Amino acid sequence: MREPRVTRLVITALIAACPFVTAAAQTLSPYAPLTIPLNIEQVPGNSIWYSTGNPGIPGKENEGNTSNAGFVVTSDGVVVFDALGTPSLGWALLEQIRKITDKNIRYVVASHYHADHIYGLQAFRDHTSAIIVAQERSGEYKDNEHTADERANQRLDQRRTALFPWVDGNTRVVPPDITFKERMTITIGERRLTLLYAGPAHSSSDMMMMVEPDGVLFAGDIVQNGRIPFMNSDDVSTMQWLQALDEVARLDPKYIIPGHGRTSTRASQAIAFTRDYIQYVRNTMATAVQNWTDFDVAYEQADWSKYREMPAFASNNRGNAYRIYLELERSRFKADKP
Ligand SMILES: [Zn+2]
Repeated sequence: MREPRVTRLVITALIAACPFVTAAAQTLSPYAPLTIPLNIEQVPGNSIWYSTGNPGIPGKENEGNTSNAGFVVTSDGVVVFDALGTPSLGWALLEQIRKITDKNIRYVVASHYHADHIYGLQAFRDHTSAIIVAQERSGEYKDNEHTADERANQRLDQRRTALFPWVDGNTRVVPPDITFKERMTITIGERRLTLLYAGPAHSSSDMMMMVEPDGVLFAGDIVQNGRIPFMNSDDVSTMQWLQALDEVARLDPKYIIPGHGRTSTRASQAIAFTRDYIQYVRNTMATAVQNWTDFDVAYEQADWSKYREMPAFASNNRGNAYRIYLELERSRFKADKP
């Protein structure tokens, strides 16, 4: 224990002696520091905290902080759900946990492997002994560049520019230590955490985590509020996504922390936006597929006024509509086969 203390004293002395105090202080943080602090709140009456990201897509103006994450503090350690979209954000989350408890961080659960939720895993891998858990199809994220639902290397290159300096040449995708197929239970302290596979819906590896006896559900990107969800990838199944939303309703949690957007105390309210949006795009595109209308024409003719002003509409809506058009065309083709 002596050595780190000596090192810290030396660093403190260096900072004091150095005219460029800010630059010296920054070396204390292992990643590029953030200027916007995390927005951390507590689930009322429970030892569960969460960070709410900004609406819209990851960019310099929000420092990549667009997704939600959270953590459960038990008598036997901490379980983290999602790690945010840059190593700097992961580090900030870790610092927030340290302000609340000095208990070991035992597990970090990844809701699914998409950049905006997993680049922060690097901070947990490098600075804690936490076990990283994900659904088994998360392995496809790196292993298969052609079928993975987000081209991992391409995405990392894009983020190294879009989110520099928070994502840089040292940023890497950290794989899980443990994976599960359908369901996994973590019993820790006085809590039972049930991890439930809910994909392929928004991505191939979507999962949700139910915390009992609290009745708090971390829903990942199955539930998104207040912005147009991203659906433009090979593995999106809006059919399965609607079923996963039904599962949320069946679980009937007291409190829902979605992957993006505000929390909710009523399941029906939490799932309404995502379900209405998926159903609206499906209905609109179903008519086009039935009438053999060309996608571009169908898209131009559709009435998007209900969603046009929402965050991420410009970046996500057209691609989403196209994916759903293809999904419906595929299912029609299957149904037509003798
Ligand atoms: Zn997301």
